[in-house]
Amino acid sequence: MKKKKILGLMLAGTLLFSACGKNAGGPHVSTTKVESTSLTEKNESLDENIDVTLETSNENGAEDTKEAISGHEAEITVETTAETTAETATETTTETTAETTTEILSETSVENTSEITVETTEESTVDSTIASTAETTKETTKENTKETTKAAKDDKEEVTEKTTEGEAGDNYSSKSTIKWNADWKYASFSKINSDSVTLYKTASSSAKNKTIAINAGHGTKGGTSVKTQCHPDGSAKVSGGSTAKGATMATAVSSGTSFLDGTSEAYANLQLAIILKDLLLENGYDVLMIRESSDSQLDNIARTVFANNNADCHIAIHYDSTETDKGFFFIGAIDVSSYKNMEPVKSHWKEHDALGKALVSGEKAAGVKIYGGGYMGLDLTQISYSTIPSVDIEVGDRASDYSKATQSKIADGILLGLDEYFGK
Ligand SMILES: [Zn+2]
Repeated sequence: MKKKKILGLMLAGTLLFSACGKNAGGPHVSTTKVESTSLTEKNESLDENIDVTLETSNENGAEDTKEAISGHEAEITVETTAETTAETATETTTETTAETTTEILSETSVENTSEITVETTEESTVDSTIASTAETTKETTKENTKETTKAAKDDKEEVTEKTTEGEAGDNYSSKSTIKWNADWKYASFSKINSDSVTLYKTASSSAKNKTIAINAGHGTKGGTSVKTQCHPDGSAKVSGGSTAKGATMATAVSSGTSFLDGTSEAYANLQLAIILKDLLLENGYDVLMIRESSDSQLDNIARTVFANNNADCHIAIHYDSTETDKGFFFIGAIDVSSYKNMEPVKSHWKEHDALGKALVSGEKAAGVKIYGGGYMGLDLTQISYSTIPSVDIEVGDRASDYSKATQSKIADGILLGLDEYFGK
Protein backbone atom coordinates (compact mmCIF):
# COMPACT_ATOMS: atom_id res chain seq x y z
CA MET A 1 0.00 0.00 0.00
CA LYS A 2 1.79 3.02 -1.17
CA LYS A 3 0.85 6.52 -1.76
CA LYS A 4 2.54 8.95 -4.03
CA LYS A 5 2.29 12.61 -3.58
CA ILE A 6 4.00 15.18 -5.66
CA LEU A 7 4.46 18.42 -3.90
CA GLY A 8 5.28 21.92 -4.83
CA LEU A 9 8.75 23.22 -4.94
CA MET A 10 10.90 26.02 -5.72
CA LEU A 11 13.83 26.65 -7.85
CA ALA A 12 16.68 28.88 -7.20
CA GLY A 13 20.12 29.17 -8.53
CA THR A 14 23.00 31.16 -7.22
CA LEU A 15 26.64 30.64 -6.84
CA LEU A 16 28.65 31.85 -3.97
CA PHE A 17 31.57 30.28 -2.31
CA SER A 18 34.04 30.36 0.56
CA ALA A 19 35.81 28.05 3.41
CA CYS A 20 36.15 24.99 6.32
CA GLY A 21 35.41 22.62 9.48
CA LYS A 22 36.13 20.00 12.47
CA ASN A 23 36.64 16.33 13.87
CA ALA A 24 36.69 13.23 16.36
CA GLY A 25 36.83 9.33 16.77
CA GLY A 26 35.30 5.88 17.91
CA PRO A 27 35.38 1.71 17.15
CA HIS A 28 34.21 -1.56 15.03
CA VAL A 29 32.10 -3.26 12.23
CA SER A 30 33.05 -5.66 9.49
CA THR A 31 33.29 -4.13 6.08
CA THR A 32 33.14 -7.48 4.37
CA LYS A 33 29.91 -8.29 6.04
CA VAL A 34 28.54 -4.94 5.08
CA GLU A 35 29.31 -5.23 1.42
CA SER A 36 27.80 -8.62 1.04
CA THR A 37 24.73 -7.53 2.92
CA SER A 38 24.24 -4.62 0.63
CA LEU A 39 24.55 -6.85 -2.38
CA THR A 40 22.19 -9.53 -1.27
CA GLU A 41 19.68 -7.06 -0.06
CA LYS A 42 19.76 -5.15 -3.28
CA ASN A 43 16.32 -6.27 -4.17
CA GLU A 44 14.80 -5.74 -0.79
CA SER A 45 14.66 -2.04 -1.09
CA LEU A 46 13.29 -2.17 -4.56
CA ASP A 47 9.69 -2.50 -3.59
CA GLU A 48 10.01 0.62 -1.56
CA ASN A 49 11.05 2.51 -4.60
CA ILE A 50 9.27 0.75 -7.33
CA ASP A 51 6.43 3.15 -7.60
CA VAL A 52 8.55 6.19 -7.63
CA THR A 53 7.18 7.15 -10.97
CA LEU A 54 7.70 10.80 -11.38
CA GLU A 55 6.14 13.06 -13.86
CA THR A 56 8.62 13.80 -16.53
CA SER A 57 7.79 16.82 -18.50
CA ASN A 58 11.31 17.94 -18.76
CA GLU A 59 10.78 20.98 -20.82
CA ASN A 60 12.63 23.38 -18.62
CA GLY A 61 14.82 23.80 -15.59
CA ALA A 62 11.89 24.14 -13.27
CA GLU A 63 10.76 20.64 -14.02
CA ASP A 64 14.23 19.38 -13.42
CA THR A 65 14.26 20.97 -10.06
CA LYS A 66 10.98 19.46 -9.18
CA GLU A 67 12.24 16.07 -10.05
CA ALA A 68 15.45 16.64 -8.28
CA ILE A 69 13.55 17.42 -5.17
CA SER A 70 11.30 14.48 -5.50
CA GLY A 71 14.20 12.12 -6.02
CA HIS A 72 16.01 13.56 -3.15
CA GLU A 73 13.60 13.87 -0.35
CA ALA A 74 11.06 11.60 -1.94
CA GLU A 75 7.59 12.61 -2.77
CA ILE A 76 6.64 9.16 -1.84
CA THR A 77 4.98 8.35 1.37
CA VAL A 78 4.93 4.67 2.11
CA GLU A 79 2.26 3.78 4.52
CA THR A 80 3.35 1.29 7.07
CA THR A 81 1.72 -2.03 6.46
CA ALA A 82 1.31 -4.95 8.74
CA GLU A 83 3.90 -6.75 6.66
CA THR A 84 6.50 -4.11 7.23
CA THR A 85 5.86 -4.13 10.92
CA ALA A 86 6.17 -7.86 11.13
CA GLU A 87 9.37 -7.80 9.19
CA THR A 88 10.86 -5.18 11.40
CA ALA A 89 9.93 -7.06 14.51
CA THR A 90 11.57 -10.22 13.26
CA GLU A 91 14.71 -8.43 12.36
CA THR A 92 14.96 -6.72 15.66
CA THR A 93 14.66 -9.96 17.50
CA THR A 94 17.25 -11.69 15.41
CA GLU A 95 19.65 -8.87 15.70
CA THR A 96 19.30 -8.51 19.42
CA THR A 97 20.00 -12.16 19.94
CA ALA A 98 23.01 -12.06 17.72
CA GLU A 99 24.35 -8.97 19.38
CA THR A 100 24.09 -10.45 22.79
CA THR A 101 26.82 -12.86 21.99
CA THR A 102 29.16 -10.09 21.01
CA GLU A 103 28.67 -7.99 24.06
CA ILE A 104 31.87 -6.75 25.42
CA LEU A 105 32.00 -5.65 28.98
CA SER A 106 34.71 -3.44 30.16
CA GLU A 107 35.57 -1.64 33.28
CA THR A 108 35.89 2.07 33.02
CA SER A 109 38.94 3.75 34.29
CA VAL A 110 37.18 6.77 35.57
CA GLU A 111 38.07 8.06 39.01
CA ASN A 112 34.73 8.12 40.70
CA THR A 113 32.84 4.92 40.08
CA SER A 114 33.31 1.54 38.63
CA GLU A 115 30.86 1.68 35.83
CA ILE A 116 30.14 -1.01 33.35
CA THR A 117 29.90 -0.17 29.75
CA VAL A 118 28.36 -2.54 27.34
CA GLU A 119 29.30 -2.23 23.74
CA THR A 120 26.73 -3.41 21.25
CA THR A 121 25.35 -1.92 18.13
CA GLU A 122 21.83 -1.92 19.47
CA GLU A 123 21.10 0.99 21.73
CA SER A 124 18.11 -0.65 23.34
CA THR A 125 20.06 -3.32 25.14
CA VAL A 126 22.88 -0.97 25.89
CA ASP A 127 20.80 1.57 27.70
CA SER A 128 19.12 -0.80 30.05
CA THR A 129 22.37 -2.50 30.93
CA ILE A 130 24.17 0.71 31.59
CA ALA A 131 21.36 1.91 33.77
CA SER A 132 21.41 -1.18 35.91
CA THR A 133 24.71 -0.29 37.48
CA ALA A 134 27.90 -1.89 38.31
CA GLU A 135 29.30 -5.28 38.50
CA THR A 136 32.85 -5.57 37.58
CA THR A 137 33.03 -7.94 34.72
CA LYS A 138 35.76 -7.89 32.24
CA GLU A 139 36.30 -9.94 29.19
CA THR A 140 38.97 -9.80 26.62
CA THR A 141 38.15 -10.36 23.02
CA LYS A 142 40.39 -10.99 20.04
CA GLU A 143 44.00 -9.97 20.46
CA ASN A 144 43.86 -7.13 18.01
CA THR A 145 40.81 -5.58 19.56
CA LYS A 146 41.08 -3.05 22.26
CA GLU A 147 38.36 -1.26 24.06
CA THR A 148 38.55 2.30 24.94
CA THR A 149 36.00 3.74 27.19
CA LYS A 150 35.65 7.42 27.29
CA ALA A 151 33.52 8.62 30.12
CA ALA A 152 32.48 12.21 30.02
CA LYS A 153 31.85 14.25 33.14
CA ASP A 154 28.22 13.58 32.89
CA ASP A 155 26.76 10.07 32.92
CA LYS A 156 24.43 10.84 30.06
CA GLU A 157 27.27 11.96 27.94
CA GLU A 158 29.18 8.74 28.19
CA VAL A 159 30.43 7.67 24.80
CA THR A 160 31.86 4.21 24.43
CA GLU A 161 34.15 3.40 21.62
CA LYS A 162 35.57 0.16 20.43
CA THR A 163 38.56 0.32 18.18
CA THR A 164 39.89 -2.42 15.97
CA GLU A 165 43.37 -2.10 14.55
CA GLY A 166 43.77 -2.58 10.84
CA GLU A 167 45.83 -5.53 9.69
CA ALA A 168 48.50 -5.77 7.05
CA GLY A 169 46.95 -5.02 3.68
CA ASP A 170 44.10 -2.95 5.09
CA ASN A 171 43.90 0.62 3.91
CA TYR A 172 42.99 1.75 7.39
CA SER A 173 45.08 1.71 10.52
CA SER A 174 42.05 1.46 12.77
CA LYS A 175 38.30 1.53 12.64
CA SER A 176 36.14 2.67 15.48
CA THR A 177 32.45 2.56 16.20
CA ILE A 178 31.04 5.87 17.27
CA LYS A 179 27.82 5.78 19.16
CA TRP A 180 25.08 8.35 19.21
CA ASN A 181 25.47 11.03 21.82
CA ALA A 182 22.22 12.63 22.88
CA ASP A 183 24.08 15.65 24.19
CA TRP A 184 25.42 16.71 20.81
CA LYS A 185 24.04 19.94 19.46
CA TYR A 186 20.75 19.37 17.57
CA ALA A 187 20.71 15.69 18.66
CA SER A 188 17.35 16.20 20.32
CA PHE A 189 15.75 16.89 16.92
CA SER A 190 16.59 13.39 15.65
CA LYS A 191 13.96 10.63 15.89
CA ILE A 192 15.90 7.70 14.42
CA ASN A 193 19.38 7.25 15.84
CA SER A 194 19.80 3.73 17.14
CA ASP A 195 22.68 2.83 14.83
CA SER A 196 26.33 3.78 15.11
CA VAL A 197 28.75 5.07 12.50
CA THR A 198 32.31 3.94 11.76
CA LEU A 199 35.45 6.04 11.72
CA TYR A 200 38.29 4.67 9.59
CA LYS A 201 41.75 6.13 10.11
CA THR A 202 43.96 6.03 7.06
CA ALA A 203 46.93 3.67 6.93
CA SER A 204 48.68 6.02 4.51
CA SER A 205 52.04 7.34 5.60
CA SER A 206 50.97 10.77 4.39
CA ALA A 207 47.90 11.25 6.53
CA LYS A 208 46.05 14.47 5.84
CA ASN A 209 44.37 14.66 9.22
CA LYS A 210 41.03 15.42 7.67
CA THR A 211 37.96 13.33 8.23
CA ILE A 212 35.42 13.09 5.44
CA ALA A 213 31.91 11.98 6.41
CA ILE A 214 30.49 9.87 3.58
CA ASN A 215 26.73 9.62 3.78
CA ALA A 216 25.17 7.13 1.35
CA GLY A 217 21.72 8.69 0.96
CA HIS A 218 18.52 6.86 1.99
CA GLY A 219 18.53 3.27 3.31
CA THR A 220 16.57 3.63 6.54
CA LYS A 221 13.69 1.21 6.93
CA GLY A 222 10.66 2.97 8.31
CA GLY A 223 12.23 6.36 7.68
CA THR A 224 9.37 7.57 5.51
CA SER A 225 6.78 7.22 8.24
CA VAL A 226 8.62 9.38 10.76
CA LYS A 227 8.68 13.16 10.74
CA THR A 228 11.39 15.46 11.99
CA GLN A 229 11.49 19.21 12.36
CA CYS A 230 12.56 20.96 9.15
CA HIS A 231 14.56 23.65 10.91
CA PRO A 232 16.08 23.83 14.38
CA ASP A 233 14.21 27.06 15.08
CA GLY A 234 10.87 25.55 14.11
CA SER A 235 10.38 27.82 11.11
CA ALA A 236 8.76 26.62 7.92
CA LYS A 237 10.45 25.12 4.93
CA VAL A 238 11.22 27.63 2.22
CA SER A 239 11.35 25.21 -0.70
CA GLY A 240 9.40 22.10 -1.55
CA GLY A 241 10.46 18.48 -1.29
CA SER A 242 8.98 15.45 0.42
CA THR A 243 7.53 18.12 2.59
CA ALA A 244 5.89 21.09 0.97
CA LYS A 245 7.10 24.61 1.29
CA GLY A 246 5.54 26.07 4.42
CA ALA A 247 5.52 22.88 6.45
CA THR A 248 7.50 22.63 9.66
CA MET A 249 7.90 18.84 9.83
CA ALA A 250 9.62 16.75 7.13
CA THR A 251 10.07 13.09 6.21
CA ALA A 252 12.85 11.73 8.44
CA VAL A 253 14.49 9.73 5.63
CA SER A 254 12.85 9.28 2.24
CA SER A 255 13.12 6.10 0.22
CA GLY A 256 14.88 7.67 -2.76
CA THR A 257 14.44 6.94 -6.42
CA SER A 258 15.24 3.82 -8.45
CA PHE A 259 17.15 3.24 -11.65
CA LEU A 260 15.47 2.32 -14.89
CA ASP A 261 16.44 -1.30 -14.28
CA GLY A 262 14.70 -1.22 -10.92
CA THR A 263 17.79 -1.04 -8.73
CA SER A 264 17.30 1.25 -5.78
CA GLU A 265 19.14 4.53 -5.51
CA ALA A 266 20.09 3.59 -1.95
CA TYR A 267 21.99 0.56 -3.28
CA ALA A 268 23.99 2.58 -5.82
CA ASN A 269 24.65 5.30 -3.27
CA LEU A 270 26.18 2.75 -0.91
CA GLN A 271 28.21 1.12 -3.66
CA LEU A 272 29.77 4.49 -4.51
CA ALA A 273 30.25 5.33 -0.82
CA ILE A 274 32.36 2.20 -0.37
CA ILE A 275 34.45 2.92 -3.48
CA LEU A 276 34.98 6.47 -2.26
CA LYS A 277 35.87 5.31 1.25
CA ASP A 278 38.66 3.11 -0.07
CA LEU A 279 39.98 5.78 -2.42
CA LEU A 280 40.08 8.44 0.29
CA LEU A 281 41.74 6.12 2.81
CA GLU A 282 44.39 5.21 0.27
CA ASN A 283 45.02 8.90 -0.28
CA GLY A 284 45.50 9.91 3.33
CA TYR A 285 41.99 10.97 4.37
CA ASP A 286 40.19 9.53 7.37
CA VAL A 287 36.64 8.50 6.64
CA LEU A 288 33.49 8.53 8.72
CA MET A 289 31.06 6.06 7.15
CA ILE A 290 27.55 7.11 8.06
CA ARG A 291 25.84 4.10 6.45
CA GLU A 292 27.47 0.76 5.62
CA SER A 293 24.52 -1.54 5.04
CA SER A 294 21.17 -1.51 3.27
CA ASP A 295 19.46 -0.40 6.45
CA SER A 296 20.94 2.11 8.81
CA GLN A 297 18.66 3.42 11.52
CA LEU A 298 19.79 7.01 11.31
CA ASP A 299 17.56 9.80 10.10
CA ASN A 300 18.84 12.76 8.13
CA ILE A 301 19.26 14.83 11.27
CA ALA A 302 21.20 12.05 13.03
CA ARG A 303 23.47 11.62 10.01
CA THR A 304 24.14 15.34 9.97
CA VAL A 305 24.76 15.53 13.71
CA PHE A 306 27.15 12.56 13.57
CA ALA A 307 29.08 14.33 10.79
CA ASN A 308 29.04 17.69 12.60
CA ASN A 309 30.71 16.15 15.62
CA ASN A 310 33.13 13.72 14.02
CA ALA A 311 34.25 15.01 10.64
CA ASP A 312 35.72 17.99 8.80
CA CYS A 313 33.16 17.89 6.01
CA HIS A 314 30.05 15.96 5.05
CA ILE A 315 29.26 14.57 1.61
CA ALA A 316 25.87 12.95 1.05
CA ILE A 317 25.67 10.82 -2.09
CA HIS A 318 22.53 10.72 -4.22
CA TYR A 319 21.22 10.06 -7.71
CA ASP A 320 18.50 12.31 -9.02
CA SER A 321 15.11 11.08 -10.19
CA THR A 322 15.24 12.53 -13.71
CA GLU A 323 15.84 10.19 -16.64
CA THR A 324 18.18 12.24 -18.76
CA ASP A 325 21.56 11.15 -17.43
CA LYS A 326 21.97 14.80 -16.62
CA GLY A 327 25.32 14.76 -14.89
CA PHE A 328 26.82 15.81 -11.58
CA PHE A 329 25.76 18.76 -9.44
CA PHE A 330 25.60 19.70 -5.80
CA ILE A 331 22.84 21.16 -3.70
CA GLY A 332 23.62 24.21 -1.61
CA ALA A 333 21.47 26.48 0.55
CA ILE A 334 18.61 28.06 -1.36
CA ASP A 335 18.99 31.78 -1.89
CA VAL A 336 16.15 32.93 0.33
CA SER A 337 17.14 35.50 2.89
CA SER A 338 15.18 34.07 5.82
CA TYR A 339 16.88 30.72 5.23
CA LYS A 340 20.36 32.14 4.88
CA ASN A 341 19.84 34.19 8.02
CA MET A 342 18.81 31.21 10.11
CA GLU A 343 21.47 29.44 12.16
CA PRO A 344 23.35 27.27 11.55
CA VAL A 345 22.80 28.01 7.84
CA LYS A 346 23.83 31.62 8.31
CA SER A 347 27.27 30.73 9.62
CA HIS A 348 27.96 27.87 7.24
CA TRP A 349 26.27 28.19 3.86
CA LYS A 350 29.31 29.77 2.27
CA GLU A 351 31.43 26.82 3.37
CA HIS A 352 28.87 24.43 1.87
CA ASP A 353 29.01 26.29 -1.44
CA ALA A 354 32.81 26.38 -1.43
CA LEU A 355 32.99 22.64 -0.84
CA GLY A 356 30.42 21.97 -3.54
CA LYS A 357 32.23 24.20 -6.00
CA ALA A 358 35.51 22.38 -5.33
CA LEU A 359 33.82 19.01 -5.90
CA VAL A 360 32.36 20.19 -9.21
CA SER A 361 35.81 21.38 -10.21
CA GLY A 362 37.25 17.97 -9.31
CA GLU A 363 34.56 16.16 -11.31
CA LYS A 364 35.28 18.33 -14.33
CA ALA A 365 38.97 17.45 -14.04
CA ALA A 366 38.04 13.77 -13.81
CA GLY A 367 36.02 14.08 -17.01
CA VAL A 368 32.62 13.65 -15.41
CA LYS A 369 29.67 15.37 -17.05
CA ILE A 370 28.37 18.34 -15.06
CA TYR A 371 24.72 19.37 -15.01
CA GLY A 372 24.27 23.06 -15.84
CA GLY A 373 26.38 25.21 -13.56
CA GLY A 374 26.82 22.28 -11.20
CA TYR A 375 24.69 23.91 -8.55
CA MET A 376 21.14 23.92 -7.27
CA GLY A 377 19.82 25.72 -4.20
CA LEU A 378 17.32 24.03 -1.90
CA ASP A 379 16.17 23.89 1.70
CA LEU A 380 17.34 20.47 2.86
CA THR A 381 17.43 18.97 6.33
CA GLN A 382 21.14 18.29 5.88
CA ILE A 383 21.85 21.96 5.19
CA SER A 384 19.50 23.15 7.92
CA TYR A 385 21.46 21.32 10.62
CA SER A 386 25.04 21.35 9.31
CA THR A 387 27.78 23.07 11.26
CA ILE A 388 30.63 21.84 9.04
CA PRO A 389 31.06 22.19 5.26
CA SER A 390 28.31 19.97 3.96
CA VAL A 391 26.86 19.14 0.56
CA ASP A 392 24.38 16.85 -1.05
CA ILE A 393 25.84 15.69 -4.36
CA GLU A 394 23.63 14.32 -7.10
CA VAL A 395 26.13 12.26 -9.07
CA GLY A 396 23.79 11.27 -11.87
CA ASP A 397 20.17 10.28 -12.25
CA ARG A 398 18.05 7.19 -12.73
CA ALA A 399 19.15 6.86 -16.34
CA SER A 400 22.84 7.06 -15.48
CA ASP A 401 25.30 4.21 -15.49
CA TYR A 402 25.95 3.25 -11.89
CA SER A 403 28.57 0.59 -12.63
CA LYS A 404 31.60 0.46 -10.37
CA ALA A 405 33.79 1.67 -13.24
CA THR A 406 31.72 4.81 -13.70
CA GLN A 407 31.46 5.36 -9.98
CA SER A 408 35.24 5.07 -9.64
CA LYS A 409 35.58 8.00 -12.00
CA ILE A 410 33.14 10.01 -9.89
CA ALA A 411 35.12 9.05 -6.77
CA ASP A 412 38.30 10.28 -8.48
CA GLY A 413 36.60 13.61 -9.04
CA ILE A 414 35.57 13.85 -5.38
CA LEU A 415 39.15 13.15 -4.29
CA LEU A 416 40.44 15.89 -6.59
CA GLY A 417 37.79 18.25 -5.26
CA LEU A 418 38.65 17.52 -1.63
CA ASP A 419 42.34 18.04 -2.34
CA GLU A 420 41.45 21.39 -3.83
CA TYR A 421 39.15 22.30 -0.97
CA PHE A 422 41.58 21.40 1.78
CA GLY A 423 44.54 22.74 -0.19
CA LYS A 424 46.45 19.46 -0.11
ZN1 LIG B 1 18.54 10.60 -3.09
